[in-house]
Amino acid sequence: MSRIAYVNGRYLRHDDAQVHVEDRGYQFSDGVYEVAAVCRGRVIDEEPHLDRLECSLAELRMDLPLPRSALRLVTREVLRRNRVRDGMVYLQVTRGAAARDHPFPEEAIGAVVLTARPVRWPEAAADDGGVAVVSMPDGRWGRCDVKSVSLLPNVLAKQAAREQGAYEAWFVDAEGRVTEGSSTNAWIVDDAGRVVTRDLESNILGGITRQRVIGLAREAGLEVAERAFTLAEAQAAPEAFLTSTTSFVRGIVSIDGHTVGSGAPGPATVRLRELYLDYCRNGRANR
Ligand code: PMP
Repeated sequence: MSRIAYVNGRYLRHDDAQVHVEDRGYQFSDGVYEVAAVCRGRVIDEEPHLDRLECSLAELRMDLPLPRSALRLVTREVLRRNRVRDGMVYLQVTRGAAARDHPFPEEAIGAVVLTARPVRWPEAAADDGGVAVVSMPDGRWGRCDVKSVSLLPNVLAKQAAREQGAYEAWFVDAEGRVTEGSSTNAWIVDDAGRVVTRDLESNILGGITRQRVIGLAREAGLEVAERAFTLAEAQAAPEAFLTSTTSFVRGIVSIDGHTVGSGAPGPATVRLRELYLDYCRNGRANR
């Protein structure tokens, strides 16, 4: 079965799916994107993803190129045509094709691409042995809350992490405080048992998984604090973990070579991973 992609109103064979050479996403990173997980045929947290897409587009002074109802339908159709029940869907919106010039073009029509592919999601919380992260200075622009396709610093950071045998890079700001990972949000559990992640005012992406895990943690009776933490605090913390749409909740067992906690995902991390997996598998209404 060949893969199918949605490109500007058409369903095309993945191999033939192309955008224009003068698409402003390609030339200027003038576009935004979303990635959502699909579990048992359901798009996880679809409405929060669409909300965030609209916020990102608003920062680019663009409207949703299709009404939400149409985007939902196209998503279903791409999932169906690719026979994805467990996997991920990628949606990208750019300002479209126009003669190359920095100001917004008068006439460009937003370009929309939607693809999906199957992914085998983790079966159980215990599947996670934990991962290593390494830190790097956060040299990104000042609007990391916008989910822009401009990901060069993130790509370079992730590559540097992988070359050091780590799964993820943690960005650290000028004050030595962790902002987030190159494609994940960063968390620790502090000495008082509070679950801690950086506040949204601090130039990070408001992760959809982050928000969901905050809700699940509070429901489970865990205290959550949205505040900054330093690299040193994280290294000395009993637990650390990361979250994202495609990583779910994963324990962090080493930060710049320092072992975190016992060297295995800690109890709060495992619990949150289980709660999040359960949420994805069994679902609930979007809240
Ligand atoms: N931070 C960054 C920089 C990211 O790219 C991502 C993944 N898109 C996240 C955090 C996690 O966001 P989400 O939970 O919505 O996948």
